Amino acid sequence: MKLKKLLSRDGFLIFPAALAIIYWFRMFVYGNEIDLVVPGAVTFATLAAMFILEQVFRYKKKVSQKPVIARDLVSTLVNVLATGTVMSAIFVPAVLFFPEIFFGRTLFFGSADQLGPFWLQLILVILLYSFLRYGVHRLQHIVPFLWELHSYHHGVTDLQASNTFVSHPIDYSLRNVLPPVVLGFVGFDPVAILFGAGLLNASSTLSHCGAGLHAGWLNHIFVTPEVHRWHHSASVPKGHRYSVNYGVGFALWDRLFGTYYLPMENGIPLQPDKLGNPAGYADEGNYLKLFFLTRYLPAFMRPTEK
Ligand SMILES: [Zn+2]
Ligand SMILES: [Zn+2]
Repeated sequence: MKLKKLLSRDGFLIFPAALAIIYWFRMFVYGNEIDLVVPGAVTFATLAAMFILEQVFRYKKKVSQKPVIARDLVSTLVNVLATGTVMSAIFVPAVLFFPEIFFGRTLFFGSADQLGPFWLQLILVILLYSFLRYGVHRLQHIVPFLWELHSYHHGVTDLQASNTFVSHPIDYSLRNVLPPVVLGFVGFDPVAILFGAGLLNASSTLSHCGAGLHAGWLNHIFVTPEVHRWHHSASVPKGHRYSVNYGVGFALWDRLFGTYYLPMENGIPLQPDKLGNPAGYADEGNYLKLFFLTRYLPAFMRPTEK
């Protein structure tokens, strides 16, 4: 295949290259502790790279996100800069409680060495982290209260860098903050967590890229935009109850539990015609209404609509 073809949207090269570069950049920033000086440096740089890809490789079913851009910005700033810190302060003591009660110490394992060699810990971190996120995310579609919180993320009508972090902070933290807190207390080597969780975080952020790129073989391993778009489909694919492709970052558990869905035509993945809330709710463009879950308040407490 000629280089020009490889570098096109059908060439299956741009997406893997983007994932590799973003992953390398994350490790570079963390290794040099740049994120301590510039909070959210990794995430904002990743979103900027995704935005550029979206401009270069236009997605043919693209839907304008202009009316909700202020909501996207506020939600991104809240979740990237504040949610992790605030919710860790709540989750850490809660998670700490279990090993202290059952093991009499703060870690499930006394030292990281007990969990085996580094390569094994890296594999275990990837498997456990992705399993926890898959499990939490699937529950967020099944348990009514969790779905009320999560359904705001499903209001989006297109995948975009800008709406990657559009989620209620509690919804966001159950999926993204709680699992790493659990991993930390299991007692894994922090470097194994950094490399393992970092790879899945790079992939899960990139899964919201709105570029019209084909990810090729990566669709079988990671949750790429082509895979995640089906999770956001306005109509749930036949044979599935709540949704498909619940994986966050990693596609393994969907494949194992029969929730993976990516129909193909001539070797190219098909994409859903319409993205949006499967219950038919319109995208909530007002961040305060999203934050205070006004859709679910009793009628007398709901702000009156003009
Ligand atoms: Zn979901
Ligand atoms: Zn999403």
